[in-house]
Amino acid sequence: MSVLGDFMSKTFDSLQPYLDKAMALETARSLFEWDDQTIAPFDAAEYTSKVVGILSDEYMKCLINDDVRKIIKKLKEDKEQENLSDKEKAIIKELDKTYEQLESIPPDEYRAFNELTLVSNRAWAKAKKDNNYEHFAPYLKKLIEYKKKFAGYRAKKGQEPYDVLLGDFEECFSIKELDIFFDKLKKEIVPLLKQVAEKSDTIYKNYNFLSYDIDKQKDFCRYLSGYLGFDFNRGVIGESAHPFTLNLHNHDVRITNKFIENNLESAMFSVIHETGHALYEMNIDDALTQTPVGTGASMGMHESQSRLFENILGRSKAFWTPIYSKLVDTYPDNLKDISLDQFIRGINKAEPSLIRTEADELSYSLHIIIRYEIEKAIFAGEADVDKLPELWNNKYKEYLGLTPTNDAEGILQDVHWSYGEFGYFPSYAIGSAIACQLYAKIKDLMPVDDYLREGNITPIREFLRDKVHKYGTTKNSNQILKDVTEEEFNADYYVKYLKDKYENLYLS
Ligand SMILES: [Zn+2]
Repeated sequence: MSVLGDFMSKTFDSLQPYLDKAMALETARSLFEWDDQTIAPFDAAEYTSKVVGILSDEYMKCLINDDVRKIIKKLKEDKEQENLSDKEKAIIKELDKTYEQLESIPPDEYRAFNELTLVSNRAWAKAKKDNNYEHFAPYLKKLIEYKKKFAGYRAKKGQEPYDVLLGDFEECFSIKELDIFFDKLKKEIVPLLKQVAEKSDTIYKNYNFLSYDIDKQKDFCRYLSGYLGFDFNRGVIGESAHPFTLNLHNHDVRITNKFIENNLESAMFSVIHETGHALYEMNIDDALTQTPVGTGASMGMHESQSRLFENILGRSKAFWTPIYSKLVDTYPDNLKDISLDQFIRGINKAEPSLIRTEADELSYSLHIIIRYEIEKAIFAGEADVDKLPELWNNKYKEYLGLTPTNDAEGILQDVHWSYGEFGYFPSYAIGSAIACQLYAKIKDLMPVDDYLREGNITPIREFLRDKVHKYGTTKNSNQILKDVTEEEFNADYYVKYLKDKYENLYLS
């Protein structure tokens, strides 16, 4: 399918002003989101939330109204469909989804929810800082109530509310598919992690926690991002408490990073991860950007790109072969006695830990499974919000053998719930698995390690641009996987990748 194609339909033309206005309002809301998470002062949220509420209200009014409804209805008629380009058909399909998400929600509730997210995020930040779950719990309850209500408005007969929420992030996965996927991971990973953890002392990693000058970290991370192909004419790197990527369109893609003086790896792998997201957005076709289909296919597919760069490529020896000496030159005192092989073992060290964002590749999906099981229980009405810390801690004990000593390193560690994002976490594990499936294909098609050793990222990046990125949302993740790998989602690649990697590193 071509993603290009000129506008052919007169009826579609009449839709364009609505689409443009909605895009502009969304862009403005995104800019506030960027500002809120990077440089806005802490106390601004309560007041800025009004602005965000009004923008989201206008966005909803602009799209959900009788005029647009009529145009869409007409465009879905057979004789109109004949005149539509593939891109226009994809836009109509996407609009249908937006209608499905928004139409049923009363506008005052939609606005109130959007206002609440800014305020509840600040409440969470304070709760985390003070290690006080009780401060966040009332906000969390309200967010859950809204999300339950919104999901209830949209749920088809017999559909679980949580399935509705999951579908917003990854339409190809519902509870049914995820239960199968996560059962498989649990069965394979829990015993492997136990074996590996017993040998984790054999890997020396103290060098990682020495003092690393932050200005030098910033320079090196900027270098890494550019090395991977981040276009500084179309993107910027900021700083925030949690690294993230935000795009206004394919010529303005923004990522953030967070620097920790006593942790060399943290910022380096964050920037590789976010650059993976950014490349996806920068490579969306010019014909699609600033349209409803002008962003990544799904959160799962997005995470597949960030995790492919961060873990599969970024933690390989071949990747570091041409650039490790530059890192050593940046910090000669700390790294002069650490060989490339020692460094590679260090960045791949695996052991159970409490914090998801700092977890190694092997234990990572267990952190996701814990969040998935808790969210599923919340939306099935099987969990008491006041007792979530207990549930959280029990699950950490069960899957990772560890118990958080406080809520800041337990249930309060993630930002997602504070924005009302439920159903997002599985995307990370889905993304890891998709990355492995895509990578298996890439390895069949090109000598990846040779390219990496030569410092040549271009063929890999261009492959991803042509096979994944440029399509935006005109294909869903299963269609992309089918077109690239000739099969639908298959978690076996992920399990095999983890087993091969960690058995090689630890058990051989
Ligand atoms: Zn990510």
